[in-house]
Amino acid sequence: MIRSGDVYYAWSTDPIIREGGSSGGFVSGLLVHLLESRIVDAAVVMKKGADIYDASMAVLTDHHEVALCSGSLYCGTLLNAKYLYRYLQSNPGQNVAVVVKGCEAKAIIELAKRNRINLDNLILIGLNCSGTINPIIARKMVRQRYGLDPDTVGSIYFAHGMCQVETSDTMYSLPIEDLEQEGYGRRLCCQRCQTRIPRQCDLVCGDWGVIGEYTGNTTCIEVCSKKGAVTLESAINNHAIMVEAADPHGVEARSRVEEAMQALSLKCRTDQFSKIPPGDQLLKSMMLDMSRCIKCYQCTEGCPLCVCEDCQTKKPWLVKPGQVPPPFMFHLIRASHIADSCINCGQCEERCPMEIPNSLYMHALQTELETMFGYHAGEHRGIPVVSKVNEWEEWEHNYGNTFEKVIEVFRDQGEY
Ligand code: SF4
Ligand code: SF4
Repeated sequence: MIRSGDVYYAWSTDPIIREGGSSGGFVSGLLVHLLESRIVDAAVVMKKGADIYDASMAVLTDHHEVALCSGSLYCGTLLNAKYLYRYLQSNPGQNVAVVVKGCEAKAIIELAKRNRINLDNLILIGLNCSGTINPIIARKMVRQRYGLDPDTVGSIYFAHGMCQVETSDTMYSLPIEDLEQEGYGRRLCCQRCQTRIPRQCDLVCGDWGVIGEYTGNTTCIEVCSKKGAVTLESAINNHAIMVEAADPHGVEARSRVEEAMQALSLKCRTDQFSKIPPGDQLLKSMMLDMSRCIKCYQCTEGCPLCVCEDCQTKKPWLVKPGQVPPPFMFHLIRASHIADSCINCGQCEERCPMEIPNSLYMHALQTELETMFGYHAGEHRGIPVVSKVNEWEEWEHNYGNTFEKVIEVFRDQGEY
């Protein structure tokens, strides 16, 4: 019997999927099973676009389409939470399997807390994540540091502290830390991220911990919820997936990778936050950076937490229309509304045409609020701090201003 907390080696029983998919095709095999047996109506995945620097999101409704989804796309810096939210708005009540990185899992959980997504309708299939690279930086890095034409590269990935770039006949490696000190490598938010194995999901998968004869053809999976256990059991019973108990030495190795990645993230986070000035200097620094803003709304559009239909930044008595740069109130509204729950996905910074370090500021504020109030953004338990402070406004946005709805949303999380 499969239980939450179990760790397995797993792979697809279909030889074509096992051969073609990364790490034994577990995720692809599971998606085929879920779609074919109609356990889910759709699957939200990332797929490769024109080349390895180009990722796009896709909704699959037919199990034959699963081959479209990617293995690991390290230049896939998109976030699927809002895409999923909009898909579910147009297809209410559908059951969906979603393949997610840590930031996506956390964003989806925050959306569930805002009553925008019902987790009961989702199966979250998490992927271990060491971080992603901005596609423009990736091309520049390949050309300048590896001396290669970016269009000749077949894959870029991280392993054992190295950034590995593969062409058709050669593999080139450089230490990630060295690259990042020179301004290449992973996005800054990914460098700061501590969610390497997203246990918020129902199942979490990756190749960390796969050792010996299993290397390269097997996925190491951890069952993180009752739903994850039931999902995996159905795939095994349907002969779509094979599992074996994971090698205990492999499980230890997986923990060591996770700990090493988290230690490096903490160092990066401390380094990056130490460059933000303290106290009232922080406000001045933010005002100076944000004076470049052209109010294009890409930060709000990209942010998975910005979902209010009646956005305060569009109220003329708060943010005077037609003014560029917009009054600082524009940024204050965003910060006061979501800083408690920022999940450090980096979308607000990635999309900003004026290169304002939005995510750095917001994540630093969130970290401070977490220390003050103990709210951990993106975890299942807890209510966003702002929901407690600014009750009426928040409840109106998210719960139709009824206490019953709040109780309904949080009852299963043991909050009431
Ligand atoms: Fe301003 Fe950048 Fe946000 Fe656009 S994305 S509104 S320029 S902060
Ligand atoms: Fe992501 Fe920026 Fe929103 Fe934080 S504020 S959740 S980093 S988009």
